[in-house]
Amino acid sequence: MYRFFAGNESFSEKSVVLAGTDASHICTVLRLRVGDKIQVLDGKGSLYVVQLADVKSKSVKGKIISSEKVNTESPLKIHLGQSLIKGNTFDVVLRKSVELGVETITPLMTERTVVKSDGDKKIARWQKIAEESCKQCGRSSIPKVSENIIKLDVFCKQRSEADLKLMFWELESENGLKDINPEKKPRSVSVLIGPEGGFTLEEVETARSHGFQTVGLGPRILRAETAPLVVLSLLQSKWGDI
Ligand code: SAM
Repeated sequence: MYRFFAGNESFSEKSVVLAGTDASHICTVLRLRVGDKIQVLDGKGSLYVVQLADVKSKSVKGKIISSEKVNTESPLKIHLGQSLIKGNTFDVVLRKSVELGVETITPLMTERTVVKSDGDKKIARWQKIAEESCKQCGRSSIPKVSENIIKLDVFCKQRSEADLKLMFWELESENGLKDINPEKKPRSVSVLIGPEGGFTLEEVETARSHGFQTVGLGPRILRAETAPLVVLSLLQSKWGDI
């Protein structure tokens, strides 16, 4: 059964109305008809089975025939501060991070970022990619792609409340993730991943001054798009739900 997300405003007591790209997708691409069923998630942990009652390319209306609570979210809230990286590799990181249960993704403009930040139109596209990835992997909530591209120190300040703050740095040779063993199991982790050129020493000091620990990922240099996926997998395995 095809799966869609809809916000509060789409729901009334017994029915759901989908508009925009979802409606045109249902009507013209999937060519679903009145009587067909789809699943609609509200992004807050409820999944509805909806029987289509009116199918037009601009708006699709359906009757709610059942609902259930679903939770495929990780108990570990990971806030990924991901430096902008070249080409569509940021899209790839975004898609895979959603599959790996990330809670929020914040695109970072760091000293050695080579990508020009033509900001906001990218953000809208990234949020759409996150939503599409949720549909594919069956997440019950849609991770947030931050509203704008920010600097590293702003991220460090924003994410100061996390139980654990980790900056992954290829020059860190002492501290690996296996050496990070807080007394209390963390429920939230803020993560910093650098661009192709890595972090500057000043950026490392800035992060440290905000309580971030530098962590190594072994003796090999991982590509900027490999590192976040390794980090998310390790964190979910250590404190999350993988
Ligand atoms: N400037 C580095 C170099 O020497 O070529 C490459 C940076 S790497 C392509 C991009 C980011 O991935 C780094 O900033 C870091 O966040 C992470 N990373 C890659 N390999 C790592 C490792 N072995 N340990 C910790 N972090 C790593």
